[in-house]
Amino acid sequence: MMTDPTAAPADIAAPADIAANADIAANALDAEAPAASPAPAATELAVTEPPRDCPLCPRLAAFRAEQRLAHPDWHNAPVPVFGDGDAWLAIVGLSPGLKGGNRTGRTFDAEKGGGTLYGTLLAFRLAHDHVDIGTADDLVLDGVVTIDAVRCVPPNNQPTKDELLTCRPFLAAPLAALPELRVVVALGEDAHRSAVKALGGKLPKAPYAAMADHRFPSGVWLIDCAPLATDGVGIDAAVLEAVIARALVLRSMAEGRTDGRADGDPAE
Ligand code: SF4
Repeated sequence: MMTDPTAAPADIAAPADIAANADIAANALDAEAPAASPAPAATELAVTEPPRDCPLCPRLAAFRAEQRLAHPDWHNAPVPVFGDGDAWLAIVGLSPGLKGGNRTGRTFDAEKGGGTLYGTLLAFRLAHDHVDIGTADDLVLDGVVTIDAVRCVPPNNQPTKDELLTCRPFLAAPLAALPELRVVVALGEDAHRSAVKALGGKLPKAPYAAMADHRFPSGVWLIDCAPLATDGVGIDAAVLEAVIARALVLRSMAEGRTDGRADGDPAE
C-alpha cells in the first residue's frame, strides 16, 4: 500500500541536513571511484558467499572471464555483501555495473544513484566514513547491508530471469544469516521479485509498487523502491530519504508489534 514515509522517529537527521549530506556524498561517490578492496564481511555472511569462480550462470561466467582478460586489475567476480553483520536493514539491488561493483568489488560503487544511496545512509547516520567522504574504501555501514540479487556483472546491465533464479540462493542465504534483520528494501521490480522469493513470500500476494511495503511470516518487512537508475538517470535523493524514513518506522513496528499479519501479504 502507499504509506506515509514522513511518519519517522524524531531522532533521524533533519531534512535539510539529509539533503546537504546526500548531495555531497552523491557527488563524491557517483564519480568513477578508485578500485576498492571489499570490506571484510562478518563470518556468518562470509560463509554465504558464492565462490570467486562460480560457474552456475554460463553466460555471466564467460563475460566475467572476458573482463578478467581485459581488466586484470578489476574485481571481476561475484560482488560480496557489503556492510554490517548485525544489520537490521538490507538493501537489494539488481546486479553490479561493469565499471561499478564489478570493478571495485563493492555494491553500487561508482554507479548512477549509488552515491546518492550511500549519501542518504550517511545522512541518516546509518553509515560513516571515518577518514574522507570521497574515499569509497573508508565507508562503513552501521546496521545496514547492501547486496545484489545477481552477484556477477551481466552484459548490458541486464541479467536474465534464469540468472536471477540461479543466483537467488546467494541472496536468500545472507538474508537468513542476519539475526537482526527487520527490513529489506528492493531497488526495482526484478530485485523485488528475488527478495520476495528469498524471504519466503508469494509474488501474487506481494506485487511490486513504488513505496509499497509487505510483511513476511518471519516478521521481516519489504519496501519497494525504484531502481537506483532509470534510463541513465540516478534516483532522486528525496525518494531514498522517504524509503529510509519508512524503513525506520517499520523497524520499530517489527520490534514492538504483534498484529499477526503475515505470509507476504501487502501491508494494506
Ligand atoms: S550470478 Fe550468482 S549464481 Fe550466477 S555465476 Fe554469479 S555468483 Fe554464481
